[in-house]
Amino acid sequence: MDLASHPETLICAECGSTIEDAGYLPATERDETYHPLVDAAVCDACGFNDLGMTGCAPELDDVVDPGPDDALLYVRLTDSDLEVVSSKE
Ligand SMILES: [Zn+2]
Repeated sequence: MDLASHPETLICAECGSTIEDAGYLPATERDETYHPLVDAAVCDACGFNDLGMTGCAPELDDVVDPGPDDALLYVRLTDSDLEVVSSKE
């Protein structure tokens, strides 16, 4: 499934840094696409160390108060795009 929009910049909601390589992005699934909740994105480091319990990847409800159609995407940022690596609900 693809993203409905491809934000060019993601800012980590935890530490305020720009996410440069990979991070966690919650999204709402609608009409076969993911609508990213960009304000709730978190960087890899915060997701792993602060939100996930002791070095585990975070769960969706660690990042947002999830709705029934929400999923947590693990995304990788490249020069011009944002690629969904995996998702969990
Ligand atoms: Zn962060």
